Amino acid sequence: MTSKKHNFSPSPIPPLRQSLEPVMGCPTFYVESVIKGNKTPGGMESVRGTQIHRVVAEYSAWCATKGVAMDLNAFDRFAKGVGPVAARILEGMRDSYKVQFNNLFATELTMSLDEDLRPTEVSEAMEGTIPDIGKPAAYQGTLDALLFFRDELKSWIDDAKSHPRPFDPAEHLQAKMYALMVFQHFSWVQEVTFRLVFVRFANLSRVVTYTRQDLPTLMEAVKSARERQKMLHADYDAGKKMEVIAGSQCIYCPLLANATCPIAKWNPQMQLTPEQRLNFNLFYSAFSKVNNKAMKEYVDGTGKNITLKDFNGKSYQFGPKESESNIYPLFKATATGVEVDAQNRLVMPVVDLLSDYAYASPEDSAWLGKVQISSTSLTNYLKTKKRAVLDLAVDDVVEKVTKVKLAVSKPLDSLPDDITDEDEEEEEF
Ligand code: SF4
Repeated sequence: MTSKKHNFSPSPIPPLRQSLEPVMGCPTFYVESVIKGNKTPGGMESVRGTQIHRVVAEYSAWCATKGVAMDLNAFDRFAKGVGPVAARILEGMRDSYKVQFNNLFATELTMSLDEDLRPTEVSEAMEGTIPDIGKPAAYQGTLDALLFFRDELKSWIDDAKSHPRPFDPAEHLQAKMYALMVFQHFSWVQEVTFRLVFVRFANLSRVVTYTRQDLPTLMEAVKSARERQKMLHADYDAGKKMEVIAGSQCIYCPLLANATCPIAKWNPQMQLTPEQRLNFNLFYSAFSKVNNKAMKEYVDGTGKNITLKDFNGKSYQFGPKESESNIYPLFKATATGVEVDAQNRLVMPVVDLLSDYAYASPEDSAWLGKVQISSTSLTNYLKTKKRAVLDLAVDDVVEKVTKVKLAVSKPLDSLPDDITDEDEEEEEF
């Protein structure tokens, strides 16, 4: 279907946008969705993303106009009418999201660069301040929010993401492309920080910062992505057989939805439905518990390890396995309590060594701010009645860190975070 020479004019190459990065991961997907224009089953992620972007942009613009960091009534007004999933996510961020109204330059700002990375199709918000080269856009992006810190010659880009799993912006084209766009549009900007705000979680964001010295790297990254995009068009126009590469992008591919992916037979995304996989996960973890218990009983009862040999002569064993790990005591334990020095101060062996080092090498002391006590070891001791006051005091200095891992939930009677949006809008990865 994609291997015949086509008797028509070359396929038009749209500007490179960040959302095309995963699509280009599989040339066949790109042909189907971008060149042939077949609708992708973006579904609820797209809708959710689009709705949240709109609310955040409108709310930020409102706060900037009013000169306030928060206006909960306005937030509720803008959030009215969004789908149930977006509503729940917005509800979660409502009380903590603050707008840096003093520094906000624009929201939902579209920026474009031509093939030579010069500003083009300059949008209204920047009209008259930036020369427009007047060429077609080769790169395009819509920044959720652009902030300027003129005294420091810095700029900040905020991008709201509704993804269930946070990721590092440095690993994706978007941060590089948007930072480059800001550098190319505003010659006074020396540093751009790109921040992904993961709106499902309170205070969870990831940032990457680029300086003007990074320009060659940023240019190379976006140009090479553009070259790959052009290559896809050239190959398609020449009637070449397009490659098929499975990956996380498959769930957005029209060929997955209608089961016509050329590698359907081998594509892991097509072997089982997501529900079948979760079902298997539940079965597997139940079976694993029963299985491990039986093996443990055998080893406990017989005192022997269980050994299995494969046909290559390799052996596997189930049995006691010793391992050693290091712990660094905070205080020095004695038979009756903790050791004190001549001045009656608690002896803290590791902390004392670290302090000495910090005094001796102040130029290498920044990392000490990251040394922490694990919460498990401390909370075990703090969560008792007689230490309630200490617990409260410690709670005042605790730093909350949001971590996210994909996990199976406990059995739920209802689905507070159910994903049941049915509308469809522009795709957002
Ligand atoms: S479903 Fe097939 S064609 Fe679509 S992205 Fe995955 S591998 Fe490529």
